Amino acid sequence: MSSETPCVLAINGGSSSIRFAVYEAGGVLLRCLRGKIDRIGMGGTQLSVDDPAGLPRALRRISAADHRTALKFLLDWLESQPAFGSVRAAGHRVVHGMRHSKPERVTPRLLAELKRITPYDPEHLPREIGLIEAFLDRHPKLPQIACFDTAFHRTMPPVARLLPIPRRYSAKGVERYGFHGLSYAYLMEELGRVDPRAAKGRVILAHLGNGASLAAVRGGKSIDTSMGFTPTAGLVMSTRSGDLDPGLIYYLERTEHMTPSRFQWMVNHESGLLGISGTSPDLRDLCSIEASDPRAAQAVELFCYQVRKWIGSYAAALGGLETLVFAAGIGENSPLIRRRICDGLGFLGIELDRRRNARNAPLISPDAGRVRVRVIHTDEELMIARSVARLLRLGG
Ligand code: ADP
Repeated sequence: MSSETPCVLAINGGSSSIRFAVYEAGGVLLRCLRGKIDRIGMGGTQLSVDDPAGLPRALRRISAADHRTALKFLLDWLESQPAFGSVRAAGHRVVHGMRHSKPERVTPRLLAELKRITPYDPEHLPREIGLIEAFLDRHPKLPQIACFDTAFHRTMPPVARLLPIPRRYSAKGVERYGFHGLSYAYLMEELGRVDPRAAKGRVILAHLGNGASLAAVRGGKSIDTSMGFTPTAGLVMSTRSGDLDPGLIYYLERTEHMTPSRFQWMVNHESGLLGISGTSPDLRDLCSIEASDPRAAQAVELFCYQVRKWIGSYAAALGGLETLVFAAGIGENSPLIRRRICDGLGFLGIELDRRRNARNAPLISPDAGRVRVRVIHTDEELMIARSVARLLRLGG
């Protein structure tokens, strides 16, 4: 790498991990480093870095009870890497940006605003603010850019944003925001690259990982998405319940004296696939035991059923469908789950080519299929780095 070529650091803080990547910003972004610290606050925390083949290689065990401490270790290590000398800016994934519709440079004013809106996303924002501040302490002169997961969905029309509760709450910002926006923005850029016409048409994006959601996109703009005011809404996920009957809160309060905080914990950490199966939040584990474990089989069936229902409802919201995209851990790697989701959707023109699906090919529908069904490997860190490079006009 030439020392004049500026680099961008992308930081993606998850619930118990920090993923990072460094890109050289000379025209097209080229990744020169990628890794993660995982199991933060759980014991067995470790820093791993991808080898040239892209496989994670454990580097060192560290002791980090929280994300700030983990970032300190990460920066100690990164600063010893030759690429770090060329880093000109850092971008962070920020899950909630309320009304922000674009990535923004972190200023004292933006930081103060993020702190003020923390009640909208107490699960993610404090951690993300902590990472930004820890970075600022160490590198006060390096620009930092906040890349919001909610930004992609700011184009949703009011009918998709409104929550049907008394109007005074919407004036306070209680509305549907939607998440996974960095992944969706990346998927749309990739779709635009491989099939520019499709990217301007009617598209359903299915980001199916531990966190899972779908988005309906028309003319390149999000018109609806399954997550809502918080990322707990929508589809059943690994440990999140997805949509529930609101009456359940009062029922559990009356019969089990369940507090709102306990309820919040249950629907985010003990529900979903884990709650139904009673054994694992991991869809691959559940698929491997479903033949002998009826509860695992039900969890897998419910997941596929719900994704299928959402595809049907978004085809209706879009008034038709030309492209369906599967992405993230489940969407990119599980032919079985994709097949079970798409079974019975032939009436919408959704069909899979068995062989293409079995090898996770980029196009998994037959050539003559009415809906083109694609698998796209999503990359939130690259989207963060692109956003930073564009905002600061780094590279070409
Ligand atoms: P996160 O939301 O944490 O980034 P990922 O996108 O890594 O999650 O997705 C994790 C999920 O993907 C897990 O449920 C895992 O079991 C599932 N997964 C990964 N590979 C496969 C596979 N080959 N078959 C089925 N599920 C898979």
